Amino acid sequence: MSDSSARDLHPRTRAVHAGARRSQYGELAEAIFLTQGFQYPSAEEAEARFIQSGPDEFIYARYGNPTSRMFEDRIAALEGTEDAFATASGMAAVNGALFSMLRPGDRVVAARALFGSCLYILELLDAFGVTVDYVDGADLDQWRAALATAAKVVFFETLANPTLEIVDLPAVAELGHAAGATVVVDNVFATPVFSRAVEQGADVVVYSATKHIDGSGRALGGVICGTRQFVRKVAEPYIKHTGGAISPFNAWIMLNGLVTMDLRVRAQAESARAIAEALHGRDSVRVIYPGLPDHPQHETAMRVMGSGGTMIALDLGSKEAAFRALDRLRVWSISNNLGDARSIVTHPATTTHQRLPEEARARLGIGPGLIRLSVGLEDTGDLIADLEQALG
Ligand SMILES: *Cc1c(COP(=O)(O)O)cnc(C)c1O
Repeated sequence: MSDSSARDLHPRTRAVHAGARRSQYGELAEAIFLTQGFQYPSAEEAEARFIQSGPDEFIYARYGNPTSRMFEDRIAALEGTEDAFATASGMAAVNGALFSMLRPGDRVVAARALFGSCLYILELLDAFGVTVDYVDGADLDQWRAALATAAKVVFFETLANPTLEIVDLPAVAELGHAAGATVVVDNVFATPVFSRAVEQGADVVVYSATKHIDGSGRALGGVICGTRQFVRKVAEPYIKHTGGAISPFNAWIMLNGLVTMDLRVRAQAESARAIAEALHGRDSVRVIYPGLPDHPQHETAMRVMGSGGTMIALDLGSKEAAFRALDRLRVWSISNNLGDARSIVTHPATTTHQRLPEEARARLGIGPGLIRLSVGLEDTGDLIADLEQALG
């Protein structure tokens, strides 16, 4: 099925078929093209391909590969963007999207609550002469004030890690566009299943495919989705010359991850809601889950994502209480991955956000008692029982 013919079909159908390419053997499942190089039928053809190569013409795997291209076309069809470029990791995607379009003197307005490595990239941009102004992502007035001045890029995570604050994507995208900015969204926590980022105004969407797209914690990967002009003329030259391309093997894992992603993510979100409801109201546990009506941005979450998502945060009050609970868990794994089939628990203050000074953590709501749960595919009852015994 060609990419263009898949676009009018429903997301679940696109996730199975879009972007597929077949060799002369007519294989039913997508092949892994483990080749870095490509042979040209003639010197003239080699010259022509270096001037302008078509979507099925390849030069070198750092520039593109048939398996990577299948993954790119499939995720672009799902996101509803013209094109996509696959990268070695989620951070290669964030780096590629931002560094490819920013120059000294440009201004970025970003939400403060970001994945640790995303903050690192913004610090690096600042060191290279890009001004970065931060706002509290959930506060629309702060966005409005910051975007009263022109900006080149607006950058945020729709659903922030690990505090699960939601940015009102349609409203911020409108403010960003009025300020002349390209709106870049890191949509990992919202997932491609619940996100309608492009429809809601995002210009560029980046994913760590390592998370829900793989879905089993096997391989690193990332992807930048956007217009053909942005993906092929702005992001691709930067990434292909700086070495951030995905390996064809990892692209093949991600391609197949997309096939089951919708089923997995919906099951994980349903389980997350049941877990949040079961723990809600317990003594000495504050449950932070956007799907619960008492979440401060419940309404925004439902409007932007239509779901509370697959992640939960719990505030247990102190590091001692958090560590005690983590060490008692039997079914949940202590790890910093997320979007995995295995349910995972993290203590952000001492791991993913350890690098930040304590005041910065406090301002982001990452207290010593906060734990982050990534809900997997195990039986919901087992997950709840394990948490209940661990919380004592
Ligand atoms: C994991 C993650 C990244 C980075 O992805 P990698 O694949 O680990 O490089 C970026 N942003 C968010 C929100 C993430 O959760």
